[in-house]
Amino acid sequence: MDTRIIDGVALSKRLRAALRAPAEALAGRGVRPGLAAIEVGEHPASRVYVRNKITACTEIGLHSEHITLPDSTTEGELLARIAQLNADRRIHGILVQLPLPKHISSARVLLAVAPEKDVDGFHPLNVGLLATGHPRFAPCTPAGIMALLEAEGVNPWAQQAVVVGASNVVGKPIAALLLQQGATVTLCNSKTRDLADHTRRADILVVAVGKPKLVAGSMVKPGAVVIDVGINRLPDGTLTGDCDFQSLMGIASRATPVPGGVGPMTITMLLANTIRAAELAAAETRSCR
Ligand code: NAP
Repeated sequence: MDTRIIDGVALSKRLRAALRAPAEALAGRGVRPGLAAIEVGEHPASRVYVRNKITACTEIGLHSEHITLPDSTTEGELLARIAQLNADRRIHGILVQLPLPKHISSARVLLAVAPEKDVDGFHPLNVGLLATGHPRFAPCTPAGIMALLEAEGVNPWAQQAVVVGASNVVGKPIAALLLQQGATVTLCNSKTRDLADHTRRADILVVAVGKPKLVAGSMVKPGAVVIDVGINRLPDGTLTGDCDFQSLMGIASRATPVPGGVGPMTITMLLANTIRAAELAAAETRSCR
């Protein structure tokens, strides 16, 4: 079997180009969607991620603000900055780059972001909306995975989907989205016994753990679609996913590479969520007139 390599870069390019139209429609009504990204402390990987998000905003004409705060920032100071952004009419989306320094509670900070500006989809209200099948903002990486599947013509309906990794950011929300699209979902974590026994049943296999080569071709059902979310930096500086990519060739029907698969889709979905937040805010303003 030929394994088709899913090109997340090409799809991202197409989707980002398509996002210009709703952004321009909003501009025609005097609304420029705006994203504020807050980064606390020095975290080289975070710096690159946030810079890429800001650049992507600029490329499609969104307003963006990159707020960098020192490691010494107190939780109270960060909460006060978020409150300012919650009240700022130029800002429709707020993201707080994780991880935060240890002296700051991520849970309290994520709760402080106004749910209607929570374009990462991490606020408990948005998590609840997603879990009950009425997502306002699906978290960006899971939303990007669903967009990749759709573009590839992969319909989760009545398929066996196995998600390896059960984080709040990726594993749990992608499991919820797949379930809502009719898949039978198994969610594995570090306590799962005989991981391969589960992965071999998957028609759609999503791996989001953070361990290089955790999943090999021998653990994959012939014809499965494999989505590798992992981003791991090897000692030689190269990036690799959670799957042994070469060993998937000839077994999986489709597979995402790392880099160039899920990663670019995450930023694209952040742009889409920011535009959606601006549209919802504009509709709210109209209905209040
Ligand atoms: P995380 O918060 O560290 O969660 C990892 C999950 O994997 C946990 O649920 C953990 O189980 C589970 N796990 C650990 N070892 C396992 C094993 N041997 N078998 C099965 N499950 C195991 O990680 P995350 O934030 O979800 O990120 C996962 C990976 O995706 C990382 O490499 C990250 O860099 C990458 N990522 C990529 C993007 C992107 O845009 N491409 C976005 C986000 C994350 P327990 O719950 O039992 O601890």
